[in-house]
Amino acid sequence: NVSYKEDIKATRQSLPCFRSRTDLLTMIRENQVSIIVGETGSGKTTQLPQYLYEDGFTANGKMVGVTQPRRVAAMSVAKRVAQEMNVKIKEEVGYSIRFEDYSSPKTRIKFMTDGILLREVLLDNDLDKYSCIIIDEAHERTLNTDVMLGILRVLLQRRKDLKLIITSATMNAAKFSKFFGNAPQFTIPGRTFPVEINYSKYPVSDYVEEAVKKAVNIHLTTSIESGDILIFMTGQEDVEATTESIQEKLLEVYRKKGEASTFDEINNIEIFPIYSSLAPELQSRIFHKLDKSKRKIVVATNIAETSLTIDGIRFVIDCGYSKLKVYNPRIGLDSLAITPISLANANQRSGRAGRTSSGVAYRLYTEETSETDMYGSTIPEIQRTNLSNTVLLLKSLGVENVMKFPFIDTPPMQTLLNSLYELWSIGALDNFGNLTKLGIDMTKLPLQPSLSKILLNSIKLGCSSEILIIVAMLSIPQIFKRPKEREKESDKARSRFFVAQSDHLTLLNVYLQWKSNHFSSQWCAKHFIQGKSLEKAEDIRKQLLRVMEKQKFSLTSAGSNWNIIRECICTGFSHQAAKLSGLKRYVHLRTGMHTQLHPTSALFGMGDLPSYIIYNELLMTSTEYLVCVTAVDPFWLMESGLLLYDIKKKDEINDYSIGLLGTNSKLNNNEVE
Ligand code: ADP
Ligand code: MG
Repeated sequence: NVSYKEDIKATRQSLPCFRSRTDLLTMIRENQVSIIVGETGSGKTTQLPQYLYEDGFTANGKMVGVTQPRRVAAMSVAKRVAQEMNVKIKEEVGYSIRFEDYSSPKTRIKFMTDGILLREVLLDNDLDKYSCIIIDEAHERTLNTDVMLGILRVLLQRRKDLKLIITSATMNAAKFSKFFGNAPQFTIPGRTFPVEINYSKYPVSDYVEEAVKKAVNIHLTTSIESGDILIFMTGQEDVEATTESIQEKLLEVYRKKGEASTFDEINNIEIFPIYSSLAPELQSRIFHKLDKSKRKIVVATNIAETSLTIDGIRFVIDCGYSKLKVYNPRIGLDSLAITPISLANANQRSGRAGRTSSGVAYRLYTEETSETDMYGSTIPEIQRTNLSNTVLLLKSLGVENVMKFPFIDTPPMQTLLNSLYELWSIGALDNFGNLTKLGIDMTKLPLQPSLSKILLNSIKLGCSSEILIIVAMLSIPQIFKRPKEREKESDKARSRFFVAQSDHLTLLNVYLQWKSNHFSSQWCAKHFIQGKSLEKAEDIRKQLLRVMEKQKFSLTSAGSNWNIIRECICTGFSHQAAKLSGLKRYVHLRTGMHTQLHPTSALFGMGDLPSYIIYNELLMTSTEYLVCVTAVDPFWLMESGLLLYDIKKKDEINDYSIGLLGTNSKLNNNEVE
């Protein structure tokens, strides 16, 4: 296999990083912290860890740890590096993402999500297993990256031998340098080619439709050799819709010409969707080189913006939006919202067309919109998301006053206060803001605080087997399929699983039926259920089960008493409770915000809607939807201290004020007036 090795060697040496190899290693050896800036595709992620490995940074038996903001990226680059080093994954090169650990004592280069490294700090405060940490894609400024940078700043004082390398695609480098006492910056010289930018002349009403039109048009009017197409969409749903629609449109054209009768017969094109929850086998296909007579169209979420480099792209189509988690500190709610991207993102997206030669970018928004609706750069996640998990983590690391933690950009005070409140209200913090026994137990589970709480509580309430299933089912996206041409049929299939009063119990029901059908994939297909998702859920369930066994948390079953399961769920989500108001609307109890049930909820079609519910997620589109809802008894909410229920008047006393850390003694005793 000599020629294969030669190929890899040549490819590695052709990357811009390679010419700077010596300089990079010198800088890293001479400084504790280094900042490295380089264009996407210059080799930062795949090459730097190998340079460190080759240069003896792991000779002492320690590892080079590389963090990625995205699971897909961690997995994909690990596989690539293993291939370049000609080793099997889990040996010298490994990766670890939540619920999947492919590392071993042999591993010297370990890719992981930034969240995994945060959990490792909890177990080993000094990160002794590592000689170097690379915080990759730092410009993304994910919540976990920002928190990790703060923790590392303190840790570097204790571990003088630990090297920290921060890589960033574009700007922001100065900010990282300043945060680490003017650490040196190195810019990898690279070359990019000009990209012609085309804005839409008129505002676009349906960006999926418009993107499809553009892609089909490019494919039909340019030669195949002129290059591949990359389309940016916001999430799995519109990625899939775009992919399907391009296939349909092209089939229509080729059918008219009498050249094909099914899409598979169209032999000059392949379309690849990519988003984070796509199965890994399908993800890696986007890197395969196609034969010269074929054009590749990749339809991606912002995962292809900087984390993954796909070679050969000459045309970029950018819808101008992305799905962001947004937190409203005033009302204390987190939601996923489709928001305009920033100008920096727009430039990154267009830039993907000019990596190997000049290219063209089509922006599906007007130039004017880009000036009025887009920020210069995206607001860091830490300033727009719920911080409960972060606060819990910092508390368990012994940070007493989270307001004094060295954040690279400080989060809004109100957000920190809300998180402290939420953690106190679910019993993770005591009245002095210290971790309770429950809070400590919660940090042992790789789940968000509310889910940890219900899982821990279920042990006592006698339904941990069932809650374990529900938690696992909540960790995966989309269980039901809803193919375009068979919507009615699939809706009917779904409704057969409905458990009155609860989407959570509906999930449990799906799982139990799947189990009694011997986990069959045919059964899934027949009932419009995503078999792969259920398998994933089962995998997560088993892993959580292992964590529980290790912690000696016992498994208990509610049998047929499913009421107790609803009560248990209520104990973790009382801060996400709402009351029926009018015919179909719900009012969020703590804030008075108006919302409504998502049309897919099992609570529809059961006659009267329940007066009180808790929900798992809030989806903000043009309307605010509650996703995954369970009816609850107001007495349960009362017990959790959120709702003060006047038994005589049978009405809640709204809007009581509450001291941040529970200084209201009445509430601490759960007294009811
Ligand atoms: P950077 O981190 O600077 O953006 P990378 O190290 O990710 O750059 O990429 C360097 C090169 O390796 C690119 O040409 C990219 O296409 C290639 N590459 C990265 N991952 C894979 C993969 N999984 N399969 C094939 N090629 C890959
Ligand atoms: Mg990279």
